[in-house]
Amino acid sequence: MNSLAASPTRLCPNLTVVIPENTGYEEARRAWNLHADLRPAAIVAARDEAEVGEAVRLARAHGLQLVPFTTGHLATALPDLSRAILLRLEFGRAVEVDPPTRRARIPAGALWEEVVEAVAPHGLAVAHGSSPDVGAIGYLLGGGLSFYARRHGLAADQVVSFELVDADGALRRVDADSHPDLFWALRGGGGSFGVVTAVEIDLLPYAEVFGGAVFWRIEDAAAVLHDWAAWTRTAPDSVTTSARLLRLPPIPDVPEPLRAVPVLCVDGVAVEEADGRALVDRLGAVAEPLLGGWETMPSAAVLRIHGDPEQPVPAISEHALLGELDEQALAALLEVAGEGADCPLLFAELRQLGGALATPPADAGARAGLLGRFALFAVGMPMSPADQRPIEASLAGLLDRLAPWDTGRRYLNFAERDLGARAGFDPATHARLTRIREEWDPGRRFLAAHPIAPAG
Ligand SMILES: Cc1cc2nc3c(=O)[nH]c(=O)nc-3n(C[C@H](O)[C@H](O)[C@H](O)COP(=O)(O)OP(=O)(O)OC[C@H]3O[C@@H](n4cnc5c(N)ncnc54)[C@H](O)[C@@H]3O)c2cc1C
Repeated sequence: MNSLAASPTRLCPNLTVVIPENTGYEEARRAWNLHADLRPAAIVAARDEAEVGEAVRLARAHGLQLVPFTTGHLATALPDLSRAILLRLEFGRAVEVDPPTRRARIPAGALWEEVVEAVAPHGLAVAHGSSPDVGAIGYLLGGGLSFYARRHGLAADQVVSFELVDADGALRRVDADSHPDLFWALRGGGGSFGVVTAVEIDLLPYAEVFGGAVFWRIEDAAAVLHDWAAWTRTAPDSVTTSARLLRLPPIPDVPEPLRAVPVLCVDGVAVEEADGRALVDRLGAVAEPLLGGWETMPSAAVLRIHGDPEQPVPAISEHALLGELDEQALAALLEVAGEGADCPLLFAELRQLGGALATPPADAGARAGLLGRFALFAVGMPMSPADQRPIEASLAGLLDRLAPWDTGRRYLNFAERDLGARAGFDPATHARLTRIREEWDPGRRFLAAHPIAPAG
């Protein structure tokens, strides 16, 4: 029996502690990514800062680590949790918007959909990612790659302040003036420094944008993909796009022409309409689209351009930051996931980088921009145990084929295996993150996806 079973209520009168022996454990340990198999020593849910402080003291009293957890989108990147308490952040508070200063305050537990719903009525946008149900704070702690990124950079650099419960259980406000080192580390360095209970973020001045998604038959994928890649070499930073080789399942949610047939999709956002139109017209001249289009839309609609799943699903993925892609690189990608490939993946995607991502501001956080020209993100959904091996083999083959163009660096929000933080940063940045972690969490109380930890 877990040591927590003996005395939880004396240590934390307000927290419900769920241990493996309890009936609620199976439900409470479930992550958004159903492929994750988390087995923490205990699970608690915190509804406010005081309960987070209690959870910190509970973990310390039992010599356990504490894992801040919002949705579990990155749960497969967590290390072993057998000596850790999973802290589910369930504040249930509203997002606050201040239109005159164009800022929002995002409480722990908020999903991007809630943030967008709060800011959109004020004619404002926020640099959310492609999925409505990703946790806003987890995304921001990793950097945050949005469809506004080539114009506005990583979302983390739009954060003005964090509120954080530290390793002593104390609530602090962290900004550029109060704690400059910690403020730098939290903007991209992940969840190793404390439990973030709120974030204040600058909003973007877009009530409307020009954006959408266009799909082509797989026979046309090579020609369109080559032209898209050529366009990215001189593309204006007002447009941020993604190109995906997709194999959608034959389910009612999927439009009929896309069910169970491989297609190419180019989607994204242009904050200058003329630049977006020029791209769509150009690609449309290469081959007749099968479906879709770009149009002027409320910025709130950007949340669903990518069509990410909004319910928990099992997913296995691979990722790499890639350099310039020449003919051979695109041929390698098409061989694995293009026409005629026997590909078990849901998609193989290239997210377009460059623009402001290549020129981070001088006061950027730890995840200062993104190295390379494209972020590769490829995913398979194992619906049964038999699916796992072919998906893993295909992902490994894809990374292997693209190795000549791999920068060797990873964007840790997209790295869904436990790589540790070293893979995400240059050595000097990683060393600085390690020093700041030692200062703020010398007992290594906090355990994060891709934890910051010294060598060895
Ligand atoms: C379908 C899908 C689409 C995605 N699209 C994008 C995208 O467009 N752009 C992009 O940049 N990323 C994207 N991601 C990656 C996503 O941003 C990361 O998985 C992110 O970490 C998820 O945060 P979460 O809180 O939802 O997940 P969780 O797994 O709950 O949290 C991930 C990690 O964040 C930390 N964390 C979370 N909340 C807190 C907190 N309150 N305090 C301290 N630490 C905390 C913890 O270290 C935790 O291990 C996508 C992922 C998926 C699965």
